[in-house]
Amino acid sequence: MPTNVLIAGGGPAALEAALRLHRLAGDRVSTTVLAPNSDFTYRPLSVLEPFAAGGAWTYPLARVAADAGFAHERGTLARVDAASHVVETTDGAQIAYDVLLVASGGVPVRPYARATVFTGSAADAEAVHGLVQDVEGGYTRKIAFVAPPGGTWPLPLYELALMLAERAYELGIRVELHLVTPEEAPLGVFGLDAAREVEALLRDAGIALHTSAPVDSVDDGHIALVGEELEVQRVVTLPRLEGPSIDGLPADPSGFLVVDVHGRVTGVPDVYAAGDATAFAIKQGGLACQQADAAAAQIAAGAGADVDAEPFVPVLRGMLLTERWARFLRRDEAAGDEHADVAGHALWWPPTKIAGRELAGYLEGIDEELGRVRGRPVQASLGIDARSIEVLSLHS
Ligand SMILES: Cc1cc2nc3c(=O)[nH]c(=O)nc-3n(C[C@H](O)[C@H](O)[C@H](O)COP(=O)(O)OP(=O)(O)OC[C@H]3O[C@@H](n4cnc5c(N)ncnc54)[C@H](O)[C@@H]3O)c2cc1C
Repeated sequence: MPTNVLIAGGGPAALEAALRLHRLAGDRVSTTVLAPNSDFTYRPLSVLEPFAAGGAWTYPLARVAADAGFAHERGTLARVDAASHVVETTDGAQIAYDVLLVASGGVPVRPYARATVFTGSAADAEAVHGLVQDVEGGYTRKIAFVAPPGGTWPLPLYELALMLAERAYELGIRVELHLVTPEEAPLGVFGLDAAREVEALLRDAGIALHTSAPVDSVDDGHIALVGEELEVQRVVTLPRLEGPSIDGLPADPSGFLVVDVHGRVTGVPDVYAAGDATAFAIKQGGLACQQADAAAAQIAAGAGADVDAEPFVPVLRGMLLTERWARFLRRDEAAGDEHADVAGHALWWPPTKIAGRELAGYLEGIDEELGRVRGRPVQASLGIDARSIEVLSLHS
């Protein structure tokens, strides 16, 4: 009998796990993906939408299910009865499992009442598009991009700020832009070289950077920083993530699932977790996929497949993108700072924003089939200097 694997979630971690499991375990597993969504939305490219420069593509889960050999059950995980190996959905349906993998993501929370929150949804992209239009029309001239304290992936905020600066510059409009972040250095999680590069990019774009600046509240465009007050017309921020707090599973105080290096939820037999739902500090799509790979390998080995159950060893890959250029940032967490890279050319292939071992190439295959062209280097260096950039094609 194949091992009955239930994956709860329909985002990068869930799909990477399903694809990896299919490759490693084949018929040794019978996989069901429980998710409320009928499509997978590729959120990272949503930062282009407010600038009408591209957007978040979607992929039908039915198509992925057919390719990766899983059944897609529409529904939302509500409760886990770990002793009986049964889950209950919010509709009251019960689904039995041999192995459960929770990849249901974090719960986005609005960090400030009076700010435009960018989650990557179409509605948020529309709201930021309105802001871009206000800047283009000369109605709004002072904007702060504020990264909230706590778990969030800050990179899209840098992209939005840099793209707005580019747009204003192109139109010859003077704007005052601030980037406010609790980080000690901009995108410092990628190491010092990357932070220096990002700092230079912000400086060149005329964006004032405020680091080590956790912002508790935003009051009508008034932002209190240590020893400094900012008055702006608009504030753009990102959601803060909280844990999913799943009934029946132990969690940390913020509701995140605590896992070991193989994705096993501490203290609960046969339950795994991957991605933003876990207590791992960095909430990022590429890392979510790496966690999913580790869990899938362990599950495949448990199902009798002849595989090495490699543990999760984070390698952080980030692509900082504007309409004009991209920077590729990579840091091998385990190897320390000396293994951090920053470059204007691809440091991994395919050069996608969510660098999933299975998912990146798989989605690229679908894009090619559909004739969609993803933002990626199409021309080698312009050759101006050693840090010269590659030209991106962002439009299909
Ligand atoms: C604007 C923006 C830009 C980003 N840019 C990048 C980037 O460039 N690179 C990068 O690597 N990361 C980026 N990220 C972060 C990345 O999107 C997340 O880290 C990643 O999506 C996490 O994947 P996940 O599968 O763990 O969770 P999610 O993507 O949140 O997916 C969770 C899935 O589970 C489903 N679900 C929710 N609750 C339940 C439940 N109870 N039962 C069953 N299913 C459930 C949801 O419908 C969803 O399908 C960005 C995030 C945002 C918001």
